[in-house]
Amino acid sequence: MLYYSLNHQAPVVDFREATIAGQAPDGGLYFPEAIPKFSASFLNTLKEKDKATLAFDMIRPYVGAAIPEEALHAICTEAVNFDFPLVPVGERSTVLELFHGPTLAFKDVGARFMSRCLGYFSRHGSRHVTVLVATSGDTGGAVANGFLGVEGVDVVILYPSGKVSSVQELQLTTLGQNITALEVQGTFDDCQRMVKQAFADQELTSRLFLTSANSINVARWLPQQFYYGYALQQWSHAEPPVVAVPSGNFGNLCAGLLAYVSGLPIRHFVAACNANDAVPAYLLSGTFAPKAAIATISNAMDVGNPSNFTRILELFQRDYEHVKSSITGYTISDDTTADTIRQVHAGHGYLLDPHGAVAYQALQQYLAQHPNERGIFLETAHPVKFYDVVEPLIQGKIPLPPAVAELLPKPKKSHVMQADYTTLKDYLVSR
Ligand SMILES: *Cc1c(COP(=O)(O)O)cnc(C)c1O
Repeated sequence: MLYYSLNHQAPVVDFREATIAGQAPDGGLYFPEAIPKFSASFLNTLKEKDKATLAFDMIRPYVGAAIPEEALHAICTEAVNFDFPLVPVGERSTVLELFHGPTLAFKDVGARFMSRCLGYFSRHGSRHVTVLVATSGDTGGAVANGFLGVEGVDVVILYPSGKVSSVQELQLTTLGQNITALEVQGTFDDCQRMVKQAFADQELTSRLFLTSANSINVARWLPQQFYYGYALQQWSHAEPPVVAVPSGNFGNLCAGLLAYVSGLPIRHFVAACNANDAVPAYLLSGTFAPKAAIATISNAMDVGNPSNFTRILELFQRDYEHVKSSITGYTISDDTTADTIRQVHAGHGYLLDPHGAVAYQALQQYLAQHPNERGIFLETAHPVKFYDVVEPLIQGKIPLPPAVAELLPKPKKSHVMQADYTTLKDYLVSR
């Protein structure tokens, strides 16, 4: 498989080069030259496949010859070594729980897959790699955990000061070793802009071997297709599901769309957003107008200018009608999100996190208008990651899983930084 830049000013590359570069040298996102189609036999035997084999079958065409089959299968086995259960919540909706990985958020899959690919590609190399990544909350922890102790790789994480939850901050700032946290005095969009500027800075990239671990990196973006495969494996109804995806940077939803274009039986997608509504507004009007990010209680989705939107357009040949026929957008306020957490806990005994609550609510609104359909919503984080928001709503304590409890006594280590590219650059070259 070859990948081209969506800015069309850079040479095509294979999976290895796209993973190592992160972003194309012209500042564009890499996009696959062709979307593979699932064979009838793949679809017929979907339910019999083990998790690793399903992942392997879905990702293999995208990796091509860049990683031999045996090594790729081993990478898949490690990337998905936890559960992805589908659990009913109410009459017509079920939840796909994506929070059973080491940092309790769905980003573990992409981060684990990518770190192992990068480890494979640098296995003989002596060159030191710096992974530079911006996080709105969960990417940082997943990437830090995925890369902790990987030899030859340094990880530098930018996060918006005061805008991530306390568990998220602990996961970013307490690991040490090859992981450095930069606490940026700005928003996630500032962090993302600084990272993008670093990749586009040829003077910097000639001195440091930089790569990204955001969902702009194909090795983090593409494995998110697996979730949709696992959902379908457990789906017992004859009619395909509507799938509601809590969205910020739109990597996850766009990966789901890839699987759908490849032939996975999904009826429709619901883009579930908080007040950061650039994509729902586009779906209504046909005009995409990125805005400054607004802080909400579903903070991992506080993205005003979603990077992967351009990939969604490309997938649908930049045809608005085509995009609109596959995705419906909803924007859910913080008040409604909080009410949803309360009501679903009281009514169904199921505890949502704020991101899952946005998706649940968006799905209910869609299903209310489509009475013959059923849906799946993705629960992208464990509610304990947002206990500061969730516990007061249910007036109860969420038991701390061991993975979180062991972080509490550890000291926070971060480097506070202005939201300014030159400061970041000076810091990176002086390390
Ligand atoms: C990152 C994140 C999202 C948003 O995913 P995108 O792929 O950026 O749209 C949603 N929920 C949680 C918990 C996240 O960490």
